[in-house]
Amino acid sequence: TFITFEGGEGAGKSTQIRRLAARLEGLGLEVVTTREPGGAPGAEAIREVLLSGKAKALGPLVEATLFAAARIDHVANRIRPALDRGAVVLCDRFTDSTRVYQGDGDGVDATTVAELERIAVDGVRPDLTLVLDLPVEVALERIATRRGDEHPDRFEGEADVVHHRRREAFLSIAKAEPDRCAVIDASGDEETVANRIWETVAARLDL
Ligand code: C5P
Repeated sequence: TFITFEGGEGAGKSTQIRRLAARLEGLGLEVVTTREPGGAPGAEAIREVLLSGKAKALGPLVEATLFAAARIDHVANRIRPALDRGAVVLCDRFTDSTRVYQGDGDGVDATTVAELERIAVDGVRPDLTLVLDLPVEVALERIATRRGDEHPDRFEGEADVVHHRRREAFLSIAKAEPDRCAVIDASGDEETVANRIWETVAARLDL
C-alpha cells in the first residue's frame, strides 16, 4: 500500500507521517517512511544539489528533470521493493509536489511534467494521497516558529500570493482525482490532525 503526503510547507507532513507510521506498526504492519526529493542514496545525492539552490540557476526544466531523476532512483530502489514485499510505504511529497512546484509554480508545461512523471514512477502510483490543507496565514506562522530547519532559505522572500497559489494548486489536484486524493484539514493540534488522517485511511484503505 502506497500513501503519499502532500501540501505546502508548515502543514505538518513529517510529523503526521511519523504518527501514522506508529499507528500502522501497532497493527503489526511493516511500514517504510520516506521522502522526496531523496529516499534512496542516489536520490539523496540529487536532493543535495536541488536544495543547495544550484539547480535553480540551470532553469526550471533542468530542475524538474533532476526531481524526476531522483524519483527514478527512489521508486526503483526503495518504494517498489518495499511495496513488493507487502510493506506500507508513507512518502513525504511525491508527484503532486512536482506538478505544483515545478509545473504550476516554475512554469514547466503540464505535458512535460506529466511525461517526466510517467517515466519516473514507472507504473507505481499512490493508493491514497493525503493533501494536508492549511490556511496560508497559519502555515506561515508555523514556518516562522521552526527556524533552524535544513533549508530555511527556501522560504525566504516568498510572497503570500505564492503560498496561496500553491494551496489552490494542491486542492485542484485533489478535486480532479477524488478517488486517489483526500483533503485533510491540517489545522488544530497534532493529535486532532492525526485522528482525521486515521479516519480517512481506515475508510479508504483495506489494511
Ligand atoms: O516541506 P519539505 O521539507 O518537503 O520541503 C522541501 C522543499 O523542496 C519544498 O519547500 C519545496 O520548495 C521543494 N520542493 C520542490 N519540488 C518538489 C518537492 C519539493 O520544489 N517536487
